[in-house]
Amino acid sequence: MIPSRGYAALHSKAPLTAHTFQRRDPGPHDVVIDIHFCGICHSDIHQARNEWDTSTFPMVPGHEIAGVVARVGTAVTRFRVGDRVGVGCMVNSCRTCEECREDLEQFCPNPVWTYNGLESDGVTPTMGGYANNNVVDEAFVLRIPDALPLDTAAPLLCAGITTYSPLRHWNAGPGKRVAVIGLGGLGHMAVKLAHAMGAETSVLSHSARKRDDALRLGADRFYDTSHPDTLVSLERTFDLILNTVSADVDWNPYLATLRRDGTMVLVGLPEQPLAIDAFSLVGGRRRIAGSPIGGIAETQEMLDFCAKHDIVCDIERVAIADVNRAYERVLASDVHYRFVIDMATLA
Ligand code: NAP
Ligand code: ZN
Ligand code: ZN
Repeated sequence: MIPSRGYAALHSKAPLTAHTFQRRDPGPHDVVIDIHFCGICHSDIHQARNEWDTSTFPMVPGHEIAGVVARVGTAVTRFRVGDRVGVGCMVNSCRTCEECREDLEQFCPNPVWTYNGLESDGVTPTMGGYANNNVVDEAFVLRIPDALPLDTAAPLLCAGITTYSPLRHWNAGPGKRVAVIGLGGLGHMAVKLAHAMGAETSVLSHSARKRDDALRLGADRFYDTSHPDTLVSLERTFDLILNTVSADVDWNPYLATLRRDGTMVLVGLPEQPLAIDAFSLVGGRRRIAGSPIGGIAETQEMLDFCAKHDIVCDIERVAIADVNRAYERVLASDVHYRFVIDMATLA
């Protein structure tokens, strides 16, 4: 076994605390990674607090992992010691189902989540990236292009791919009007990516505070939805809406901002089921869809796209001892635009 040090939630009401644990012995196909940075995704908070009712403890969260290869198994072919690598939300999948065979592992019925999951043996809990190291099968390790710094690239492994994949799937590009709801970790990546893809990009934010940032990040327009008239004035405007909000909100006024045949894609995962006005969907032949992360091949494509277009995350580096304070700031929408834990601060 490989000793590992990190921070864990010991139960759903507890703040994260220092925690030591064991990683599995690396097999022939495994890469041992020295983790340098790990982003804080809102999903970490949902799960550390058991808001989706799926959590097991102790839990070491973290699925926006960037680091350097420290060791490789005898059968590893794609990586060498010293390579700059990343790991996202999955560390394995069944590899035989229809989805896996089409490079769509995110839809595999038996994925191995990076944390709060079970290893392929079906019994050992997986532990995530708020830690000094990880052991991952090379098939689920991404290459971080040299042009991307490890700290600002780390959140691409979840926030980046989760927004890139639906933008690609629903053909964001020139001539398309794309709106991003919520300028947080996912939202700010959605803005940068949609802009780079050539779409006319708008931000719908629940206060006026982020106006300047939104425009700086590449948005063509910014709308403060705290004014009751804002959404009414935008009726029938957008072809595609990427909804990144983590809170329970009435989405019907937002649905009305879609043009005929427009699609609202949910990537945010609030606790409560949605209440949708059927008349709005029917009347505009509008669609509501969802989208989870992306497959491994598409995640590499996204990293290469970011390197080519000079895109990284806007981050605030934090010491691991400050992770609980960072969680509170994420919950207050006070994040610009991703907290990234610097693992050098791990005592
Ligand atoms: P985040 O950084 O907290 O961003 C969420 C944004 O939503 C906030 O910055 C805020 O933007 C907006 N918001 C928050 N509370 C709101 C409220 N009461 N009303 C309206 N808007 C509100 O979170 P994130 O890390 O980007 O994650 C967002 C969601 O995506 C989470 O639910 C997370 O679990 C989920 N997620 C899903 C996937 C997937 O595979 N689909 C992957 C990763 C994360 P404004 O201040 O601009 O309004
Ligand atoms: Zn995430
Ligand atoms: Zn599968």
